[in-house]
Amino acid sequence: MPRSRPQQRIPVLTWHGYNVFGDSYANNDLIAFAADLQAIDDAGFAVVPLLEVARWVRGERHDFADLVPDGRPVLALSCDDGTDYDWRDLAHPVHGPQSSFATTMRTFQRDHPGRQSHLSLASFVIASPSARRQIDAGAMNGQGALNDDWWVEANESGLLAIESHGWDHNHPTVSPVVQREQRTGDFFVIDTFAECDMHVRAAAHFIASRAGRRPRLFAYPWTQASDYLRHDYMPALAEAHGTIAAFGGQSDFISRDSDRWYLPRFVFGPDWNAGEGLLRILDAAR
Ligand SMILES: [Zn+2]
Repeated sequence: MPRSRPQQRIPVLTWHGYNVFGDSYANNDLIAFAADLQAIDDAGFAVVPLLEVARWVRGERHDFADLVPDGRPVLALSCDDGTDYDWRDLAHPVHGPQSSFATTMRTFQRDHPGRQSHLSLASFVIASPSARRQIDAGAMNGQGALNDDWWVEANESGLLAIESHGWDHNHPTVSPVVQREQRTGDFFVIDTFAECDMHVRAAAHFIASRAGRRPRLFAYPWTQASDYLRHDYMPALAEAHGTIAAFGGQSDFISRDSDRWYLPRFVFGPDWNAGEGLLRILDAAR
């Protein structure tokens, strides 16, 4: 039955595919994602591409009736840091074989034909190959799992959309970083034109060259954005490079009057770590 009142609040849910600390829901984001996808469908929600939610905030679409003709409430999915766990089924060095987000989505579509016809996951990837190598070595035990050779295939699959998480995450394992004083570990210190332009414009350009499609969305590393990046660079300059929205703030719903350069998301772990927690978020979005 069509909704009588348009949906006011849209949740965006986020996982991190490399968060594999065991083989249960609470300690394995890949397992949680599979259970959550089923719970989302059972709760009567339809997944739409994150880009379409950004277009809704921008006033470029009034509703989602073209994508969800039966009027179900909608939400969008994303994952951060672009590890190979997004796309490839890997054997974790400690916890064994894992199903990627993409495999879980394909399995869901095979088992529930027609239920989630616009199923899509925005994968926010780190642009710099050198930074990815250093983060893999320094923070992922050298799993060799921060590659870009799957980006084209992922985009072409329609299941994943490769989006931008900036140049080098200003990550403490990376040297040199874009930050002018080599201060790493937070993203508030990215606050000059040169730094922001590297993270937004240059990163988007590089990702386009490896992914076959220009990213349209940006996720601030650690959800942090300096006043200059959020209030000056993004509104004035990002759109010219194709970036139409950025995600930063945590733990809230997106509404039509949200700041499109600081859109909130819910993150698995901090914002929910059990099925009941997810249902509370979904119930508040109907
Ligand atoms: Zn990140």
